[in-house]
Amino acid sequence: MTDALSILKRNHLSNTDSRRAILEIFLQSDNALAHNDIEKITGERFDRVTVYRTLQTFIDKGIVHTIPTADNATRYALCRENCTEGHHHDDHVHFICEVCGKTTCLDNTHIPAVKLPRGYDATQINMIVNGICPDCR
Ligand SMILES: [Zn+2]
Ligand SMILES: [Zn+2]
Ligand SMILES: [Zn+2]
Repeated sequence: MTDALSILKRNHLSNTDSRRAILEIFLQSDNALAHNDIEKITGERFDRVTVYRTLQTFIDKGIVHTIPTADNATRYALCRENCTEGHHHDDHVHFICEVCGKTTCLDNTHIPAVKLPRGYDATQINMIVNGICPDCR
């Protein structure tokens, strides 16, 4: 079962208003969210710092992963793979629609293996595909 409370429990996080509310926003959204999107929905309930801290906790715990974008507005999305504390395995492609601007996790589209030259060690790999999403076609 995937609800905010069981996610918090599974990750040994105490149930605070901000954690529960922000997780619920992610659970209800089918695309990745920027910090501003989250603030817009939570409104005055939580200040900026609380939202930042909550997101950072979720990243550390392997609940949420980040998607770097060209406009420097990092997007956040729920991890659907078996991410654990300190170890993310979100090796899927992210799609950014040029029309509506939505960022979507393509969970079943995996980043192809990249062969690096000798001496290079990858810790993270990101792939962003820009284009037009099904809703905007
Ligand atoms: Zn992850
Ligand atoms: Zn679109
Ligand atoms: Zn993703």
